[in-house]
Amino acid sequence: MAASPRVGVLALQGDVREHARVLTGLGAEVVLVRRPDELAGIDGLVLPGGESSVIDKLARAFGMREPLRDAIAGGMPVYGTCAGMILLADRITDGIAGQESFGGLDATVRRNAFGSQVESFETDLEVGALGAPPVHAVFIRAPLVESVGPAVDVLARLADGRIVAVEQGALLATSFHPEVSGETRFHERFLARVRAAG
Ligand code: GLN
Repeated sequence: MAASPRVGVLALQGDVREHARVLTGLGAEVVLVRRPDELAGIDGLVLPGGESSVIDKLARAFGMREPLRDAIAGGMPVYGTCAGMILLADRITDGIAGQESFGGLDATVRRNAFGSQVESFETDLEVGALGAPPVHAVFIRAPLVESVGPAVDVLARLADGRIVAVEQGALLATSFHPEVSGETRFHERFLARVRAAG
C-alpha cells in the first residue's frame, strides 16, 4: 500500500471535519463517505461522534447500512468515537425506538449513559496500550460499554471501572472524542491497523 492510506470518514452527520483534520495531519488521504460506491476505494473508515440515531436513519436512507455492515464484516479497520461507538456495537441499550447499529463489535453499549445531570465532562485516562502520558478525554452525552464478548480487549476504564475504550481485531471504539482535544494516539493506532491490513 502507498505510504498515505486512503481513509474514509462517514459524513452523514456529526463531527466529520474534526476527524478529517486529525487524519490529514497524520498523513492520511481523507475521503468523505456518503454513498456506497465511496466505500470501495478506502482502506479504513471513521464513524464520527454526533447523534447515532440520526446517523442510523440517514445511513438507511442513503442505502449505506448494508454496505457498511458488509465492509465491517469483511475486516475493514474502523474507528468509532461516541456515536460511532454506538453504531459499531452489536447491542445498544437506551436507543430510540427502532434504532439499529451497523454492528461488528461484540459489546453492549448504553447510549447517553451519563444521564442529563453529567452530560459532558473531561477527565484524564490511563491507557496502557498507548503508554504515557494519560489521555485527556472529552465526554459529550457519551455512551458506556456495559459488557463485552471474549474477543474484545478493554483499552480504558473510568476510575470507577466502567469501560470507555475497546478494541476487537480491526475495530476500535472510544466513548470520548480524541478528535476534539488534540489527542492523536487513537487515530495513529487506527492508521497503523489500516496500514497493516493493506
Ligand atoms: N448521545 C449521542 C448518541 O446517542 C452521542 C453523542 C456524541 O457522539 N457526542 O449518538
